[in-house]
Order: sequence, then C-alpha cells, then structure tokens
Amino acid sequence: MALTGIQILKMLPKKNCGECGIPTCLAFAMKVAGGQIEIGECPYVSDETKATIGEASAPPIRVVKIGSGDTAFKTGGETCLYRHEKRFENPTGIAVLVSTDMAEADVEGRIERFKTLRYERVGVLMKADLIAIKDSAGDQGTFTALVQKVLDGAPDANIILMSEDAANMAAAAKLCGDRNPLLFGATDANVDDMAALAKESGYPLGCKGSNMDNLIEVSEKALAAGLKELILDTGARTLRAAFEENVVARRAAITSKYKPLGFPTITFACEMTDDLMMEAMIASVVMAKYAGIIVLSDLQGDILFPLLLEQLNIFTDPQRPMVVQEDLYNINGPDENSPVLITCNFSLTYFIVSGEIEGANVPSWLLIKDTEGLSVLTAWAAGKFGADHIAQFMKKAGIEDKVKHRELIIPGYLASMKGELEEELPGWTITIGPREAGHLPAFLKEWKPAA
Ligand code: SF4
Repeated sequence: MALTGIQILKMLPKKNCGECGIPTCLAFAMKVAGGQIEIGECPYVSDETKATIGEASAPPIRVVKIGSGDTAFKTGGETCLYRHEKRFENPTGIAVLVSTDMAEADVEGRIERFKTLRYERVGVLMKADLIAIKDSAGDQGTFTALVQKVLDGAPDANIILMSEDAANMAAAAKLCGDRNPLLFGATDANVDDMAALAKESGYPLGCKGSNMDNLIEVSEKALAAGLKELILDTGARTLRAAFEENVVARRAAITSKYKPLGFPTITFACEMTDDLMMEAMIASVVMAKYAGIIVLSDLQGDILFPLLLEQLNIFTDPQRPMVVQEDLYNINGPDENSPVLITCNFSLTYFIVSGEIEGANVPSWLLIKDTEGLSVLTAWAAGKFGADHIAQFMKKAGIEDKVKHRELIIPGYLASMKGELEEELPGWTITIGPREAGHLPAFLKEWKPAA
C-alpha cells in the first residue's frame, strides 16, 4: 500500500535544509507521497530508505524513462483510470518506425520528418518523441548499420531497438551508450537473455506477448530477473483488441495493483493497417485509452499535428490552468514611445494577444499579470485583476522607466475599471483596448500616445 506523507516524513532526516528544492521535509514528504517528486532528490536519505520508500510510493503504473538528458521521454507514472479523478501524468509517446527492409531514401525521409515536424503551441514544443528501429531480417550487420544511421541522423531522438535476436540486440545496444534505448522484443523464447542484457546495460526492456496471458508470463520473468522498467505489448494487432487489452491492463494495475501489468503499454498502429489515415484513427483511440507509446509507420504533418493536439488536451492537468510567468514582455523591439498593454497570465490569452501584436508588427510592451491562470473577466470577478493589484504590479515591473508616455491600454472587457485604475495610477491615462484580440492589430497601428 502507498505510504502517506507523514509515514514518509518519519523516514526523512528532517534537516529542513531545502537542498531538495522544497523548503521543508514535510512539504517534500507530501510531494513524494503524491508522486510529484522522487525520493532520490533528498541527498541525505540512505539507499535502504530510498528502496523502501521508492517501492512503497511507486505509482501502480511504473515510470519508464527512455533516452537521456533534456529530451528523454518518460511514460507511465499513472495513478488513475479517468483523467477527471486526478490527472494523467506522462503524455503518450509517438514513435516512427524505420526498418532494415526499407529503402535508404524511406529511412532518411522518416528521420528528416522526425526532425522537422515540430510545432509550438501555447509555449509547448510538440513533436514525435521516438524512433523505433526494427531488425526485420535478423541480420546483425544491417541492423547495427541502421541503428548507427539513426543515432547520427537524429541526435535528439529517443530510441526503440526492435529485435527478437538477443545477439543482434546486444550489438545494437552497444552502439547506444548513454542514449538509454528501449530494448524491445523479450518474448517467452528469449526473455532470459533479453532480461540479462537489460540488467547489464540498465536499459528498459520491452516485453511482447502473443496474447495477454503470454505477456504476463514474460513480464513475470522479467520482474523475477530484477528489472524495474518494462514496456508491455499484449500482442494486439486490431483496434478492438488493442483498446480492450489496454483497458484490462490499466484496470488490473490501478484497481488490483497487479504488478506484471503495472507498466506502460506500446501499441503498434503501424502493424494494424496499411492506410495511414486509419493508422491515425487507431492512434487517436488508443491515445485516449492508455497507450504509453504508439508506433506509426510514418510521420506526416496532417496526421501528426492532430495527434499532438489530442495529446496536449488529454495530458494537461484539468485542475491547473496553463499559465505563463508574470512579467513585462517586449514584443517586436519596443522603445520609450511604444504602447503599453496589460492582460492576464492565462496562457491561451497570452499567446493569442502576443501573437496578434507580433503579427501587427507594432513594437509594444505587454504586461502579464499573474491571475493564477484565470482569464480576464474571471480574474477580475475573483479579485485577482483589480486596479490595486495592477498598480502594484506595474510598479514592480518598472514600466515607468521604460516609456516616456503614461498611457496604459487595458482589455476592452475591463472598461468599467478605467476610473478606479486612474485613481490607483496617478499621472496615467487609461485607454480601453479592443474586446477581441483579433482587433488589436488595427488598434495598435492607429495608436499614438495620449497628449
Ligand atoms: S533535502 Fe532532505 S533533509 Fe533537506 S529539506 Fe529536503 S527532504 Fe529535508
């Protein structure tokens, strides 16, 4: 059973030194209990305590890390069946397949698309995460050559090595160094050798079953070998089977704490159809139902982008609005004569407003006030975007040192605040901006500081 924060606190050194990045041991213990921070972040706990707490506070779906550094991919860590119960922790990873039986140009095209199909939305970089490299012919030389090509060609790709031949897998794994690939292909025929390789290298292991029962046998053997990071393939190669088995595995792990299925799953959409659009549909369904990784046969913008948007929707925390940092943002290189605008820190508002200002090509100062992620009117109604708060924030942001004029443009929806703001900001003129961000470009192009 999971430990409570108080139980964890009893095992901590209680120095309250803050070296873990959290000011007190109690707050740290609560975060460990909530799965928000790893026990290893406290440098003073013994290995024995780490093992005890780590095991007891581990989420029912274990976290598995593939790759290393800033671009490492993490999956699992899930603690609930439905997003509204808490939140889903780690977004489903999207992988593209390359294999030894593909023409060189096809491999290179996939690597290129992996590197270039990247999108930035609401401050988040959205992209595919992994490249799965398949040893189709069982030939070690061809497989290792392809692995090297991907390692060199896509330095930030997280790697899935796919082979059921333990010797080929070992040769490919040797090339990967600290890239920390997933070794995918432990079956009931080779699990002992694959588990030994995973243990020796420290890489996560992918277990593949011909059906759910067979997968459980493979997973149990990998667990018995002492492995802690597994990715599971139930062998499902139809949408219906993949959907059902993902649900069964998640339920067994979450509600029954069934360890052999307490790991993220991988879905091979690429092996379920020859139609790229159908692949996208399959990927979309299993992303909503618990897939840890989805492997696609190719990456195309019109298929990848909607999947990434779905991923963004499902894996944002429903209890926490997305926010940007409170600050004074300069857009298009403003100077002392540029307009000054203010709005809230709800990230959607920020990106829409800043996008319109950027598009208008008018150098501007944009003050972003922390409203805890609430939108303009909601923040105002909740007392987080009142005249007194705005006045304090403007002083803190130092806008008076940046501009010669004294004119502040406020969102059109806050027109009723004008008088109150002018009282709080003596010497400033308050101008009512447009209600809709889309009207900002025309407004700004006409704008001149009040005389
Ligand atoms: S580093 Fe350890 S001892 Fe220091 S505050 Fe954090 S939990 Fe407590």
